[in-house]
Amino acid sequence: MYDVIVVGGGPIGSYVAYRLAAQGHRVLVIERKSGAGERVCCTGIIGQECVNTFAIDEKAILRRVNSASLFSPSGNRLHLRREEPQACILDRAAFDIAMSERAQDAGVEYNFDSRVKDVTFTSSHVNVIISRRGKAQEIPARAVVIACGFTPGLIGRLVPGTFRDFTVGAQAEVKTPGTDEVEVYFGDVAPGFFGWLVPTTPSMARVGLMSRQKPGHYLKKWLEQLAAQGKIASADVSISYGGIPLKPLTRTYGERLIVVGDAAGQVKPTSGGGIYYGLLSAETAAATLHQALADDDLSARRLTRYERGWRKKLGRELRLGYWARRLFERLSNRQIDRLFEIVKAGGIDEALLKAEDIAFDWHGRTIIKLLKYQIVARTLDVVKLPFKTGQIDR
Ligand SMILES: Cc1cc2nc3c(=O)[nH]c(=O)nc-3n(C[C@H](O)[C@H](O)[C@H](O)COP(=O)(O)OP(=O)(O)OC[C@H]3O[C@@H](n4cnc5c(N)ncnc54)[C@H](O)[C@@H]3O)c2cc1C
Repeated sequence: MYDVIVVGGGPIGSYVAYRLAAQGHRVLVIERKSGAGERVCCTGIIGQECVNTFAIDEKAILRRVNSASLFSPSGNRLHLRREEPQACILDRAAFDIAMSERAQDAGVEYNFDSRVKDVTFTSSHVNVIISRRGKAQEIPARAVVIACGFTPGLIGRLVPGTFRDFTVGAQAEVKTPGTDEVEVYFGDVAPGFFGWLVPTTPSMARVGLMSRQKPGHYLKKWLEQLAAQGKIASADVSISYGGIPLKPLTRTYGERLIVVGDAAGQVKPTSGGGIYYGLLSAETAAATLHQALADDDLSARRLTRYERGWRKKLGRELRLGYWARRLFERLSNRQIDRLFEIVKAGGIDEALLKAEDIAFDWHGRTIIKLLKYQIVARTLDVVKLPFKTGQIDR
């Protein structure tokens, strides 16, 4: 019998599987696609901290980024630049493949073309019910890790509770005449959220946005504007979509069960980035399961350690990020424009860039520092801060 079956061979599922196999456990990953890295909708930006922490394969990195331009609704530009690279743009397919190869090298088995339909639980093991080329099969294991990404149907069946808030990302690969910098647009491009233009090679970029409603409509409109401005070669491109959870599940464990990654909603609510927080949580998931398997105690009570562990790392960040997200969604274009003016005129951007504790992956610190400027808090109509002064360190 397998020690652990991982449902989903995305980067987070592959990482949990790798960590468990490296510690001597027998692990099977079940993936509905026919190979790792197929049909992924993602911009693939991760911070340098993530690259260092998880030894991300250089082959999967398309380019490094040390600057970005942010545009307000009326076109005011904030240019942010640091000497050292802050982030990397991944070839998402190559990244997923590299993660699954690392797992396979450690001894993980993969069943591709296999869709998990259900999981049943007994007092001694779990049965994972899969459908492979039309044939049903039941595979037993001592525990199951759900890492199937944003799939509300399956999550709703397996876990008590479901996604409490989410948005949708839409993205296209476009030809460009040579954009060299990440660009982020606020305002009517993507009301409540933002749009991005991320160069991947000297002549290609990913253009996308997030929206609660009609993401395809907004993206098509924006692509046409970009084409008319000559920023992209053509608006006639295919668009892919993906759900993005904005709040974690209320409970991410159960009897012989752990939920991780997008499936658990471990995603930055500010930007929708889920790779780093998913990997950090995967590390905790593997460490908890390793001990629980060794002690032969896979009870829900024992696996609460996973939930406590990942919330200790990320809980505050996710709460603050979600608070900021909801605040941002209420802002008018005028307020966003005013915020840009204040930040620029007051040199707040420069001050933030100089602050050593401001990091690509930890938006909570930036939010807190920004709101400590009274003029910013007033402009955003923030009357009550979601934290006490002085309680700002993670
Ligand atoms: C438009 C867009 C842009 C994004 N940009 C970024 C970014 O720049 N940086 C960043 O950090 N994050 C970004 N994200 C989020 C990022 O893509 C996710 O956080 C990340 O993919 C989560 O990895 P995962 O392994 O948890 O889930 P996934 O990558 O979704 O993998 C889940 C896997 O489970 C499989 N699966 C699902 N159901 C079943 C089933 N029933 N049986 C078997 N297999 C199943 C799927 O086929 C998939 O391979 C973006 C998302 C979107 C939509």
